[in-house]
Amino acid sequence: MAGFSPPDDTVLDRLKAIVGADGWRAPNEAARYFDDPRGRFEGRACLVLLPKSTDEVARIVRLCNETGTGLIPWGGGTGVVAGQLSPDNDNAIILSVERLNRVREINAQDFAMVAEAGCILENVHAAAAEHRLMFPLSMASKGSCTIGGNLATNAGGIQVLRHGNARDLCLGIEAVLPSGEVLSELSPLRKNNTGYDLRHLLIGSEGTLGIITAATLVLKPIDPDTVTALCAIASPAQALTLFSELRKRLGDSLSGLELMSGFGIGLVTRHFPSLRNPFSDPHDWVLLAEISGPEGMRERVEVALADCLDSDLLADVVIATSETQRTNLWDLRENTPDANRLEGAICNSDTAVPISRIEGFIRETQAAVLATHQGLRLNSYGHIGDGNIHHNVFPPEGVAKAAFVSEHPGIIEAVRDAIDRVTIDFAGAISAEHGIGRLKVPDLLRYGAPPKLAAIRKIKAALDPNGIMNPGAIID
Ligand SMILES: Cc1cc2nc3c(=O)[nH]c(=O)nc-3n(C[C@H](O)[C@H](O)[C@H](O)COP(=O)(O)OP(=O)(O)OC[C@H]3O[C@@H](n4cnc5c(N)ncnc54)[C@H](O)[C@@H]3O)c2cc1C
Repeated sequence: MAGFSPPDDTVLDRLKAIVGADGWRAPNEAARYFDDPRGRFEGRACLVLLPKSTDEVARIVRLCNETGTGLIPWGGGTGVVAGQLSPDNDNAIILSVERLNRVREINAQDFAMVAEAGCILENVHAAAAEHRLMFPLSMASKGSCTIGGNLATNAGGIQVLRHGNARDLCLGIEAVLPSGEVLSELSPLRKNNTGYDLRHLLIGSEGTLGIITAATLVLKPIDPDTVTALCAIASPAQALTLFSELRKRLGDSLSGLELMSGFGIGLVTRHFPSLRNPFSDPHDWVLLAEISGPEGMRERVEVALADCLDSDLLADVVIATSETQRTNLWDLRENTPDANRLEGAICNSDTAVPISRIEGFIRETQAAVLATHQGLRLNSYGHIGDGNIHHNVFPPEGVAKAAFVSEHPGIIEAVRDAIDRVTIDFAGAISAEHGIGRLKVPDLLRYGAPPKLAAIRKIKAALDPNGIMNPGAIID
């Protein structure tokens, strides 16, 4: 955040006046805004602002632009790459959109909802369900993350395979640009080629080009039949064969496909003893599949899985027969990030490679990580249908994270570097769905193509010449 100094008391007082007495928090009463979900960083800020309207956001941004005050947009604080956290200094102001939390409109004929940026994802699901519709973006952080944060990070999650990521589920956007001007493009139009589509520039910009205040979201009909199955398989290669087979037979009804290892399931059931592995025999890998479609889908899925069992494409399968069983299967997957944290992960990657290369990617990554230190343990899992694999790396069994890291200086950087290098060798992306934030700025600078980096800098300078918007995130 070079070049920024904290705003003086006059500027702070003017900012507080915009939001009123209940619309700001002093740093000493704002601990929740400084929390990192992975516990690696502690954020800092000189003030937290909680505007209630787009107009208040615009007035704040205008004043910050005039006075050269840095602003960090904050949604639900679940970002895992420190995009919403400034660990190095408290020069900037956090602007939380949490009080912009109204669903402004649901139009069932347009299959569209206008939701303010601070709407919690789970609340958006509930609002859509009242109209017998669904908003398909979903992830384990759904109870805390916000629509603004989802769009700012172009979040992915567990249904990208069928419904796409946040970008694919947004028809329009309202945002306050760094100048303080309000870009209001909330139309539910499916087709609109009138000039540059600024919505797509703001989506995935991680708060560096403006503050998203509302969005028009795509709604879809709820499928009458949803089937969730946990398949025991021998290897990631077999997961891919099974994926091809299921896709051929069930088409785009396959909405979720999550790879987990036997080791990973063991971690989840150890740290969350109420969860249980439904297989009595140990299996090296499992594939959690969800298929949704018209009435009769269950029969089609059962036949397909029985055929796969007969032809040894899978070793065993459990099909949920109730909503409770379905939730139990998903809990194994959704508690994995927390189990990794509790186990003491020293590194959590978010990598994507072409689907056809996943098998080799997992194998080579394991070898590269072990080459940094024999005895490290890896939990490789993720959205295999999107080629998005998360590698979590732990100290050897029985060794505490703090002791291990202090005895092996530089080990975290070495492991991250090993994973990044294999990812690039496999024509992959070092950030698949979490973004760059502040954590991965050095990685983007190292692996980003020079023309791309130059274009990012030019766009940033054109839209935010004073560099007030989330300074230090994405690019330095
Ligand atoms: C347990 C767990 C599971 C997760 N699973 C997934 C997953 O499956 N897929 C996935 O993609 N992510 C996942 N995440 C990461 C995280 O939930 C997403 O990145 C989410 O989209 C962040 O939303 P948020 O509202 O919490 O944003 P924040 O954490 O508050 O902010 C994230 C970034 O967006 C910016 N930002 C926030 N709001 C706005 C706004 N209104 N306008 C402009 N910029 C803004 C911030 O400055 C920051 O750069 C997971 C996180 C956790 C803790």
